Amino acid sequence: MTYQNTLELAKNLDLNDPLKQYRSSFLFPQHDGNDVLYFCGNSLGLQPKSVRDHINMELDDWAKHGVEGHFQATNPWFSYHENFLEPLSKLVGAMSSEVGLMNSLTTNLHLLMVSFYRPTKERFKIICEDDCFPSDSYVLASQIKYHGYDPNDALIRLKPRVGEYCLRTEDIINEIKKHGNSLALVMMGGVNYYTGQVFDMKTIARVSHETGAMCGFDLAHAVGNIGLELHEWNVDFACWCTYKYLNSGPGGVSGYFVHDRHGNNPDLPRFVGWWGNDPATRFKMGKEFVPAYGAGGWQLSNAPVLAMAAHKASLEIFEEAGLENLIIKSKNLTGYLEFIIETINQSLNKTQNSITVITPKEQSERGCQLSLIFEKNGRSIHHELTKNGIIADWREPNVIRLAPAPLYNTYEDVYRFGEILSSIIVGS
Ligand SMILES: *Cc1c(COP(=O)(O)O)cnc(C)c1O
Repeated sequence: MTYQNTLELAKNLDLNDPLKQYRSSFLFPQHDGNDVLYFCGNSLGLQPKSVRDHINMELDDWAKHGVEGHFQATNPWFSYHENFLEPLSKLVGAMSSEVGLMNSLTTNLHLLMVSFYRPTKERFKIICEDDCFPSDSYVLASQIKYHGYDPNDALIRLKPRVGEYCLRTEDIINEIKKHGNSLALVMMGGVNYYTGQVFDMKTIARVSHETGAMCGFDLAHAVGNIGLELHEWNVDFACWCTYKYLNSGPGGVSGYFVHDRHGNNPDLPRFVGWWGNDPATRFKMGKEFVPAYGAGGWQLSNAPVLAMAAHKASLEIFEEAGLENLIIKSKNLTGYLEFIIETINQSLNKTQNSITVITPKEQSERGCQLSLIFEKNGRSIHHELTKNGIIADWREPNVIRLAPAPLYNTYEDVYRFGEILSSIIVGS
């Protein structure tokens, strides 16, 4: 695609965008009577207009049926979670028996590590990326301590080479091999939250297994953003939140994946609850746990229907739009953002600020997010952007993250962002 930094081109691209109707399915915060330029779908996706009706339907059924709603509701709550398995499995490249929904992301990470982090004196180390999300750092370190090991010995953090921002796959592989005999688990983000780098999950899983380690991914920034083939890649387990690219509302229910080869292994230790029991005997109220088939056997509790109703509304939009179509637009839209930033950079003279995009240039190594570092005044530039109705996010120590989401962002959003950013830099 050839780009130009003109409103005309941006409008033209929007006009020819096969997904253009979806923008009107979302509610935009307002700034001076206009929609904001929203680039924070990687942090909290916008609210689909259909969410309210979906939640109201459950409220109405609750009012009408009380406890009978478990069987009498329009979408019976007893099997409510089953509505999600098919669409979720498509989003992550899994069989429907390999996925589930429950709790929050951090909780699920802990629960899955109960099964997949089983350290021994010989094998106790975990490899993660150095700048992983703080919650993941805390989970990994606390799990290590819980098992009686010291995170200083057991947690191996992968750092980029000096002068680089992203990790090279060859360096990740070498580090996995180096610790091979003492490695219990490789646990990384699928897409790094800070740099937006997509990791080569297939290769990482393969090399981890060759050394005898397990391999899991936190897909908070990957799901709904990039194509995933978790089953094919042989990933052992994964989990994600649904309120970022999947637009399911603040603190929305989390999704998880357990590969089929583990799903029916009764020897794998796990923390269990009644909703993980085989549905055929769940209500016999027995004393012995009989695991449901596959990932369902990890579920603990009955479904949080009100939170899941929002997720249901949002997944219906994904189903209709099609992830493959969204990814095509995402590449073009983020490519346009990259082009606009390069154009601004080239227009600046040496005494003015300069922008470095730390996200990989290669399309296969990124999703829709670009992370920007400004040579100077990053924080005040972010402040000015906000004052001008642009919602982007600032991450310590010095990054502005922008994520044009293909479901609701337009080329015009990106063009207007460039116009405002350019005037802020030139005027400062
Ligand atoms: C957003 C995010 C989280 C958030 O965890 P919650 O348990 O949902 O609060 C955790 N890990 C990563 C990598 C994230 O991007």
